[in-house]
Amino acid sequence: MSTHTDPDMKARHSDQEDIIDTSKMSVEKRAALEVAEAARESQWTEPSFAQKLFMGQFDRALIDTFPQQSAEEKAIGDAFCAELADYLRKNLDAEEVDATRTIPSKVIDDLFKMGVFAMKVPREYGGKGFTQVNYNRAMMLLASHCASTAVLVSAHQSIGVPQPLKLFGTLEQKAKFFPRFANHTISAFALTEPSVGSDPSKLATEAKLTEDGKHYLINGEKLWCTNGPIAGLLVVMCKTEPKIVNGKERPQITALIVEGGTPGIEVTHRCDFMGIRAIQNGLIRFNNVKVPAENVLWGTGKGLKLALTTLNTGRLTLPAACAGAAKQCLNICRRWGNERSQWGLPVGQHEVGREKLAYIASHTLAMEAIAKLTSHWADDHTKDIRIEAAMAKLFCSEVGWKIVDTTMQFRGGRGYEKASSLKARGETPFPVERMMRDMRINMIIEGTSEIMRLFLAREAMDPHLKMASDLLKAHNPIGTKAKAGAKLAGFYTGWYAQQWFNASLWERHDDMGILSGHYHYLQATAHRLARSIFHAMGMYQEKLERKQVLLGHLMEIGTELFAMSATCSYAMHLASHHQGEGPMDLADYFCRESTRRIEDHFRNLSTGNERLMNDLGKKALAGDFAWMEEGIVTVD
Ligand SMILES: Cc1cc2nc3c(=O)[nH]c(=O)nc-3n(C[C@H](O)[C@H](O)[C@H](O)COP(=O)(O)OP(=O)(O)OC[C@H]3O[C@@H](n4cnc5c(N)ncnc54)[C@H](O)[C@@H]3O)c2cc1C
Repeated sequence: MSTHTDPDMKARHSDQEDIIDTSKMSVEKRAALEVAEAARESQWTEPSFAQKLFMGQFDRALIDTFPQQSAEEKAIGDAFCAELADYLRKNLDAEEVDATRTIPSKVIDDLFKMGVFAMKVPREYGGKGFTQVNYNRAMMLLASHCASTAVLVSAHQSIGVPQPLKLFGTLEQKAKFFPRFANHTISAFALTEPSVGSDPSKLATEAKLTEDGKHYLINGEKLWCTNGPIAGLLVVMCKTEPKIVNGKERPQITALIVEGGTPGIEVTHRCDFMGIRAIQNGLIRFNNVKVPAENVLWGTGKGLKLALTTLNTGRLTLPAACAGAAKQCLNICRRWGNERSQWGLPVGQHEVGREKLAYIASHTLAMEAIAKLTSHWADDHTKDIRIEAAMAKLFCSEVGWKIVDTTMQFRGGRGYEKASSLKARGETPFPVERMMRDMRINMIIEGTSEIMRLFLAREAMDPHLKMASDLLKAHNPIGTKAKAGAKLAGFYTGWYAQQWFNASLWERHDDMGILSGHYHYLQATAHRLARSIFHAMGMYQEKLERKQVLLGHLMEIGTELFAMSATCSYAMHLASHHQGEGPMDLADYFCRESTRRIEDHFRNLSTGNERLMNDLGKKALAGDFAWMEEGIVTVD
């Protein structure tokens, strides 16, 4: 089997150094962390705009010119999106899809004919070969209309077989599997299990090599596998023979491409959810499922790294989908804000109505800026985007939820009413009720918001951890620590001083017009964020990884700074392309709101309530407040 991988994929192969002190952790936590660390992409071969923010540098040069599609790429995306929009409007009734939990097979056939399921498949294998930008343009459009269909398409090619195959497949595997996605094969990504959610170290589904070494036999259970019940191909993460690393047994996770129809695969339950109700998502049992050994993707033991790397680009679709839903909310609120009058004024003219519209419009611009920027960066391969992709997912899913909630409130009782009911009584069937149910999942799938903050903390702190690892390890002898301390002191004396006194703090940004003050704030706040991280490291040392609330605030600050940077850059781009002053005003408002949130996060780095909060949380868990649960009907 050839070991060829995509030449564009600058995969980081080097072994992960042991830079986090795990010696004081419980055995279980240590095992989880060691597996996660081994699966990290440890190298940074390209610059990361966001990581620089955490290190105190707002690098304008990386973000100043908002990337643009070439005329040729734009024409491809324009034509495809126009055809898709026309098709969806005429043929896909999203309310019916939701009510019946079914996407009509005729629609799926038509989408196959249009190439929707092969957008990410390279042209030489019969696909559309879309860039991430064009792919996300189509996904934004689809998500604005029918979230269930968007999830079907996205689970198939953002994280399903086409994406890891593109990144890690051999030439033989590509030739064998890619053409099938242009021709009625839907795929799925199977990582989660009943006992394995955010922490994959306990993965139990097992793949055992047969004695002749030609096949694997898979046994186990995968939960919530989107498209699983209808998939022709699945990428399944399995436990394979453990390896001895530094004298310790280390679990190996391996990714295998599995044919959906293989004997022994059993869909034991189709899951039913609050939203995205038409997705085919199930609990899947693997009973001695025989898979050819050549179906291993990338190599044995690389399955978790493959899954995490796939998600680094795969999770860029979700921000675009959230931006599509936010644009729909803006359209609904504009029309409703003008149409509905109460107390002598259109509801959009009351001050709180205007506030809602300003929030939705300005934050939709920010979501679009982030989704577009990260997609362009994914295409041009000149930056490391793992931090920005996680920020995009975190920001857009959280803000998307607030936008849908704001839209529901603005619509009053009609927001809560089903579109079919509105239609039946002759009103415009704005689907806010369905959109709210569909939107909530985005803060959970492809990494929960909590896990995104922890992921960000790990990646943002990587430069510090690499430098300070000898000092932070509790078990290191005092001599080693002293040596490491002296070396670090040399670096940090200069670096820390720069976070207070730096020529960049006096830089003017007059070219940014009304946004120049925000650029000044970005510059100064990146230094302040770096100082705060440094102080937290000094104060908590190896215990810092347990200070999740503090880390969460620091990561939110970094995420807001990235959102401000992307939004200002996008607004400048739009303003210079004949969109008038609107984008600048929206970006100005977004940055003012973002600044307020950032200042709140700084204030909350230490509230003085932490001890009480931890104490109360522990007591609630131990049942000390069970007396408050009296007077209700509990669930058996
Ligand atoms: C509709 C839907 C579609 C899905 N599609 C797929 C799919 O196609 N393929 C697939 O493999 N999976 C899929 N999933 C699974 C999804 O990715 C997981 O639900 C998600 O990763 C979270 O895992 P969990 O639900 O087990 O939560 P858990 O990991 O059990 O977490 C529970 C809570 O604890 C928090 N938490 C967990 N660990 C920590 C920690 N270390 N520190 C602080 N807080 C923590 C979490 O944020 C969460 O709030 C899907 C799920 C749903 C509901």
